[in-house]
Amino acid sequence: MPSKRDRARLLALSAKESGYWLHALPSANLGTMLDQTTLSVVIGLRLGASIIQPHRCHCGDSVDTYGHHGLSCSRSAGRFSRHSTINDIIRRSLATAHVPAVLEPIGLARSDGKRPDETLGPWGPEARALFKELSKRVIESTGDPRAGSYLGQRISLAIQRGNAASILGTVPRCGGFEDVLDII
Ligand SMILES: [Zn+2]
Repeated sequence: MPSKRDRARLLALSAKESGYWLHALPSANLGTMLDQTTLSVVIGLRLGASIIQPHRCHCGDSVDTYGHHGLSCSRSAGRFSRHSTINDIIRRSLATAHVPAVLEPIGLARSDGKRPDETLGPWGPEARALFKELSKRVIESTGDPRAGSYLGQRISLAIQRGNAASILGTVPRCGGFEDVLDII
């Protein structure tokens, strides 16, 4: 891969957890469905395709045809929903495993101004360790050997939905997505 962008994409996608969402059974009842626009955007991200017409983000920065700016924009629309959704998934799993949990106690927020950057889905060592332990416990608690896989799929789907929302959130509200998305 000649470009750093494509190398980074392929390295991220080579992590097994980046593809967990692709193994989820599409079910409205289970909340594992992705709408057409979200699916188009996340597949485009995965392929490294041109997914959006160049435009100016709400924050004033330019958004190129790959749309990656939305993943690290200071006014990212999807980052907060992704964060809270994954928090909720983990809290529910802890409850299933009979582990007491408090959602984001005061004092945990970073004070250095750093914020999560873009992700295509790979996890760091701490996240992998937490997932492994939590999976083991929900499997023990539910007796379902697939419970860990389902947890990974829910987290992975939340990341994909958040990424799509972040990219779509850079689009000016006056137009429809059809006007700016290349892949729909
Ligand atoms: Zn922006």
